[in-house]
Amino acid sequence: MRFDLLLTSARLASNPQEVVDIGIAQGKIAAIAPGLAVTDAGAIEPVAGGLIVPGFVETHIHLDKSCIIERCSIREGSLKEAIAETARVKRGFTEEDIFERARATLERAILAGTMHMRTHVEVDPRVGLKGFRAVRELARRYAWAIDLEICVFPQEGLLNDPGTEELLVEACEAGADLIGGCPYADTAPIEHIGRIFALARRFDLNIDFHLDFDLDASWMHLDEVVRQTEATGYAGRVAVGHVTKLSAVPSQRQLEIARRLAGAGIAVTVLPATDLFLMGRESDYNVPRGVTRADRLAQQGVTCALASNNVLNAFTPFGDASLIRMANLYANIAQLGRREDIERCFDMITSAAAKLMRLDDYGLGIGDRADLLVLPSKSAAAAICELAQPSLGFKRGRKSFMRPPTELNAPP
Ligand SMILES: [Zn+2]
Repeated sequence: MRFDLLLTSARLASNPQEVVDIGIAQGKIAAIAPGLAVTDAGAIEPVAGGLIVPGFVETHIHLDKSCIIERCSIREGSLKEAIAETARVKRGFTEEDIFERARATLERAILAGTMHMRTHVEVDPRVGLKGFRAVRELARRYAWAIDLEICVFPQEGLLNDPGTEELLVEACEAGADLIGGCPYADTAPIEHIGRIFALARRFDLNIDFHLDFDLDASWMHLDEVVRQTEATGYAGRVAVGHVTKLSAVPSQRQLEIARRLAGAGIAVTVLPATDLFLMGRESDYNVPRGVTRADRLAQQGVTCALASNNVLNAFTPFGDASLIRMANLYANIAQLGRREDIERCFDMITSAAAKLMRLDDYGLGIGDRADLLVLPSKSAAAAICELAQPSLGFKRGRKSFMRPPTELNAPP
């Protein structure tokens, strides 16, 4: 068999003791076995015992409003303030400004191993389609390194914001990949959910909601999303982000809700950095974490992902777009110490996240896309515990980045 590229002396998480070679042809994994013939390879890349994993999958980020922290003023650190500050700053956005900031965050994500990404993009009468156009151009220019899909959504509400729905329609007609909703921002949240489902069905798009983003568990928009998912036959096509309310209910009720979500085919993205920053502001001691236990939902069969959400803005004034760091943060907040639990966190930035995004040919099987990372780690769990960064990445079999090792400079 002829390979375009051969990765030699690699290890896989499934059997880290064994050293194997990985043959890549036409952008796909063509063979995995010890001692593949180097004479059959167009190029050889020794990976010196590095751990090969599939490229990371970011299911929820906002490229359009990343890197605006210097323009924002944070006094309360509340969700309301974050939306208001972003709305204020957003009035000054130009397409070029959005493009350059989004590019900076995207390049960071690529260097941190992300190879598939779903970005939310705000659409409303103030910003119009500037964000959509800027990010669409970015997706085109960086297609060699990352598959970027765009979810347009009304961050400031839909029924309370005339003109927004027409703009969402225009974005869908212009090729948006998904439609998102944000019922908590609307004066008519239930109608908001209905309109988003209607748009999704009109354009045959999947849906990704921002949902239930506070710690008052006496009511949930989730109930309506479950109802409409079932009524429209949208099982497997709906994801929800945050659902921090689930962190404020007792474990037995969490279990019941998890089973309902699994049954309805609704996936969940937990966003630890933002949820930790914005939740629990009513307390000045014994502050709740406000982060929903994705690992518990996953154990009940819910497709769950961990994601970055925001980078350097009023929702999250931190960030490096590293999913390994996000999985580490989550494992720490959720107090996970057992190896299998930490491995589940790795799944939530790889295979489970790929399932949420309905990616085909994702993984390390023969015929899967050769979207691969080399990690200087003994196992997937170790990579999370030690905050390992990938040393090399290959997108569809082509080297897309490298991160040279740092060195000590000891005196002679
Ligand atoms: Zn978000």
